[in-house]
Amino acid sequence: KNFENVALIVGVTGIVGTSLGEILPHADTPGGPWKVYGVARRPRPSWNADCPVEYIQCDVTKKEDTRAKLGALTDVTHIFYVTWASRSTEKENVEVNGLMFRNVLEAVVPNAPNLRHICLQTGTKHYIGPFELFFENQDREQPYPEDLPRLNVPNFYYTQEDIMFEMVKKKEGLTWSVHRPDIIFGFSPNSVMNIIGALAIYAAICKHEGAPFMFPGTKEAWNCYAIGSDAALIAEHEIWACVDPNAKNEAFNIHNGDFFKWKHMWKVIADQFGIKEYGFDEKAERVTLVERMKGKGPVWDEIVKKHNLLPSKLEDVAGFWFPDVIFGGDAFVSSMNKSKEHGFVGFRNSKNSVKTWIDRMKAYKLVP
Ligand code: NAD
Repeated sequence: KNFENVALIVGVTGIVGTSLGEILPHADTPGGPWKVYGVARRPRPSWNADCPVEYIQCDVTKKEDTRAKLGALTDVTHIFYVTWASRSTEKENVEVNGLMFRNVLEAVVPNAPNLRHICLQTGTKHYIGPFELFFENQDREQPYPEDLPRLNVPNFYYTQEDIMFEMVKKKEGLTWSVHRPDIIFGFSPNSVMNIIGALAIYAAICKHEGAPFMFPGTKEAWNCYAIGSDAALIAEHEIWACVDPNAKNEAFNIHNGDFFKWKHMWKVIADQFGIKEYGFDEKAERVTLVERMKGKGPVWDEIVKKHNLLPSKLEDVAGFWFPDVIFGGDAFVSSMNKSKEHGFVGFRNSKNSVKTWIDRMKAYKLVP
């Protein structure tokens, strides 16, 4: 069968890559049905086996391997770049993430004659800087508009944009879009940052031990208005940018379009696990999630066994550091006006989004 649109998802087992891999092959998806190639670093996980994509195991930090495997995909029309590698400093992040993106583009751009569009997913850290500077740029105009000037600090998002701008110049008619989500709500156990995954595991451990499900963050984070970006909504936004001429060669923020407070979301999560005792102790000193979950590996092993979950090790499936960063202070808010003005009117109810992904984790036997 000849497909009009052929996607290459780089990071297909990640938090948004999983949603793209599910949505693109549907006949009623805009531009669909798409033929889909999906790249990930490790062998295909069992929870991804049913996804109708051609799975390619490739470590895109390796130039030769990337050239051999991705350079052979001559029918690709659209690239969805939804991956990153995490290092301990932003200087290292710039190096490795620049290298990965360049390796992919150098393999595909010269070898895929019908390549038309590149979607690059970055995020709100475009406006506030890397994790190292997370709460230091809070006086910038919020909600962040896409054209807020770059900060004068290293940021791998800027490096990736610049690599993309350089590459699209080399091929006539090749267009691009940048997608900047906030904290992503999704379900991949292979994601470096999956806040709902980490909180669901924390809740499951509280329930198992009969301990109260306490908020591990600051008072500011408990009380402020926050936003989230549903993984399937981000996938829809990226697909929109591929098919709508109004969305070409632009950067767009993408979030659910509503506000919530973690103090209300906490009940939503507690209810999903049937936990009656939960909340926030304003008077107590903050105990981070990383500290609370220290030494809980054997407890997680018991839970996995008791509920017949997919085998996993706590340190592989729960990045507790990520909620700790997010719950360190007030949330950051970006503007959805530009996306709407350009024609994207998708939205999610954030509470329903969280419930959906927890249901999904349960259905896939990732949490009890
Ligand atoms: P992720 O961590 O969920 O995706 C990881 C995917 O990339 C997996 O499929 C993994 O196999 C693959 N991968 C990792 N290293 C690889 C390599 N060397 N070679 C091939 N494949 C490799 O990704 P994500 O969270 O969607 O991140 C994508 C972008 O979105 C990043 O710039 C990130 O900062 C940004 N972002 C993420 C969040 C979030 O909450 N997760 C929020 C805002 C912005």
